[in-house]
Amino acid sequence: MIYFIGAGPGDPELMTIKGRRLIEEADVIIYAGSLVNEQVLAGRKPRAAVHNSAYMALPEVIEVMEAAEKEGKMTARVHTGDPSIYGAIKEQMDALDERGIAYEVVPGVSSFVAAAAALKAEYTLPGVTQTVILTRAAGRTPVPDGESLKELAVHRATMIIFLSVGQIENVAAALAESYGWKTPAAVVYKASWPEEKIIRGTLEDIGEKVKKEGVKKTALIVVGDFLGSDYELSRLYDPSFETGYRKASR
Ligand code: SAH
Repeated sequence: MIYFIGAGPGDPELMTIKGRRLIEEADVIIYAGSLVNEQVLAGRKPRAAVHNSAYMALPEVIEVMEAAEKEGKMTARVHTGDPSIYGAIKEQMDALDERGIAYEVVPGVSSFVAAAAALKAEYTLPGVTQTVILTRAAGRTPVPDGESLKELAVHRATMIIFLSVGQIENVAAALAESYGWKTPAAVVYKASWPEEKIIRGTLEDIGEKVKKEGVKKTALIVVGDFLGSDYELSRLYDPSFETGYRKASR
C-alpha cells in the first residue's frame, strides 16, 4: 500500500495525526527533500528505507514504490504542504493505477493556510472579497491561456502566488494594472519554520523590500485588500442574523 501524505508547511506539529502515524509505520519513505522538513520523519522505524525524491525522476519514484509493493512493504510518499497543490501527485497516482497498485491520499496543511496564520489574516473578508485565487507566474512550467496574472488580477480577489518570489517585481507590475500600486502585498518566507520571515508592503515597494531581505525561494506572495483594515462584520456572528444554530437576539 502506498500513502501519499501531506506533511504540512514545515513545523512538524502541523502534520495530521494520521500522517504522522503512517510515517511511523512505513517501511519505505520517499520524501520531497527540497521542501519537507526532515523532522517530520523523526518518528520513523529505525530500519525504514528513506529516499529523497529531489534526486529522483518520476520512473525511479515509481520503481521504488513497485519494488516495495512486491515485498509487501508499506510506502509513505511524503509531500510538502498538501499534495494537491503543485505536488505532481497525479502523474504518480496514474502510474500506480496502470500497475494496479493501491494508494490513499492523506491531506496536509498547505503553505497558503500557514501563511494566513503567520499573517494573522483572513483571506475572505466580507465586503472586501469572497474569493481566493491560488496561482503562479509562468516560469519553466507555462501557465495556460486566460490565466496570466494580468487576467486574474481583474477580479481583485485575494491572490496567493506560489513558486514566483524570484520574479516578484514582474509579478507586482502585472498585478498593479488592476489592483493599483497602493494595494497591500506581503511575502511570507518559510511559513511555520523557525526562520519564517514576513515582509509587508504594497505592490509599489514589495519587490524592493524582498530583494533587500534576500528572499529568493520558499515563499508565497499574497496580495489583496484583505491585508488592509477596511471590511464589514460577518453575517455569521451578527447578533441580528439567525442561523440554524442560533436565534436572532434583536
Ligand atoms: N504542496 C505545497 C506547494 C508546493 S510548490 C503546499 O501545499 O504548500 C512549492 C512552493 O510552495 C514554494 O515555491 C513556495 O512558493 C510555497 N511554499 C511551500 N512551503 C512554504 C512555506 N513553508 N512558506 C512559504 N511558502 C511555501
